[in-house]
Amino acid sequence: MNIILLGAPGVGKGTQAQLLVERDGFVQLSTGDILRSEVQKGTPLGIKAKFFMDKGELVPDDVILEMVASKIIIGESYLFDGFPRTIPQAEGLDRLLVEKAMRIDRVISLELNNEEIIRRLSARRVAINSGRVYNLIFNPPKVDGKCDITGETLIQRSDDMPEAIQVRLKEYERKTAPLFDYYQSKVGVKVVDALGDIETVYSRIKAALL
Ligand code: AMP
Repeated sequence: MNIILLGAPGVGKGTQAQLLVERDGFVQLSTGDILRSEVQKGTPLGIKAKFFMDKGELVPDDVILEMVASKIIIGESYLFDGFPRTIPQAEGLDRLLVEKAMRIDRVISLELNNEEIIRRLSARRVAINSGRVYNLIFNPPKVDGKCDITGETLIQRSDDMPEAIQVRLKEYERKTAPLFDYYQSKVGVKVVDALGDIETVYSRIKAALL
């Protein structure tokens, strides 16, 4: 089964994706995680992407589609997190999946009010190598400032600063929100309330996957 997690930045897609990978055997494909790792390694792709990411803008569709195409392996159960982000990306993914005789089985839209989104993003910390996401308010690491798994130092993403958050929310409304109707007419979209603790939201997602 392949699923897409839709939702604005900060609704908890990455956190829920971690659980779905650990407990349900999905392979997470997070374009944000892949890009951050490229930025950290200083690759040509990373250098190009950083220019957009630091400002909170979307990376161009052709760059994203080429990157995703190189990752998809036939037969895996993918959980797409933060991708697709635009209609051209969704159309590109459709073409890619047809080529590989795969399809999207479920689309989940996590929904949360903007005030809570901003509160969560401001308290978010990430471990670049492990890709794990923490939140100082409701999901802190066991040891202050260190990843539970790798022990690496947690960082605050440059795009989790207030100005970039505003740009990202606008980019979401303008370019990503239209994906709701796109998938509603194709496979249907299950709306999941993302307000609540991590386990509660996870149970709602599981119910939506049945
Ligand atoms: P995320 O970790 O999903 O919040 O992504 C962080 C940043 O990476 C975004 O603000 C964009 O600059 C870039 N990014 C991640 N995924 C995509 C995508 N599918 N399309 C365009 N830009 C993306």
